[in-house]
Amino acid sequence: MRQYAKHVQPFLLSSDYEWFKNALAVLNSEGLIPYVDIIPLHQPWAAKEQWKTWPVSLWQAHRIWSVARIIGGAPILSEVSGGFITIFSLCPFCHRRTIGLQHMVTTCPGTIDLRRNPPDPNVDPRILLKAALTYPGNEKDLIAQVILVSSAVARFATAFDLSTI
Ligand SMILES: [Zn+2]
Repeated sequence: MRQYAKHVQPFLLSSDYEWFKNALAVLNSEGLIPYVDIIPLHQPWAAKEQWKTWPVSLWQAHRIWSVARIIGGAPILSEVSGGFITIFSLCPFCHRRTIGLQHMVTTCPGTIDLRRNPPDPNVDPRILLKAALTYPGNEKDLIAQVILVSSAVARFATAFDLSTI
């Protein structure tokens, strides 16, 4: 028993920690926005948009964009749990493994037509996603970001035969 405590247990704890660290790194890089990155997005802003002029479809898109900001992931609903599935094991468009909102919005070839500019390989996708979820300060850019995020999420939800919020 002493040998177990001295040799085996520390190894198991270290293995668990490594597994957890690696799993968290995958979530942070591919699926979810790290919490520290979400905090600035939660700051209130002075809304100057002409809200009343927005059509219903843009409001629905805005709802997807807003929920993505709140949960830090893709607001795609599970029919089983009723909660959000923010990480998927396989991309239906490019077959990349372990994907989330970041892949959907910034790097997937299946949504490339939604992005205004071709993705610069030197720009970290996390920065692109953060920019897409940050209030830009004017209505025109906000609408472009809302449409990008909501269209990408909706396209993936359709491909998975699931619903978004
Ligand atoms: Zn993909």
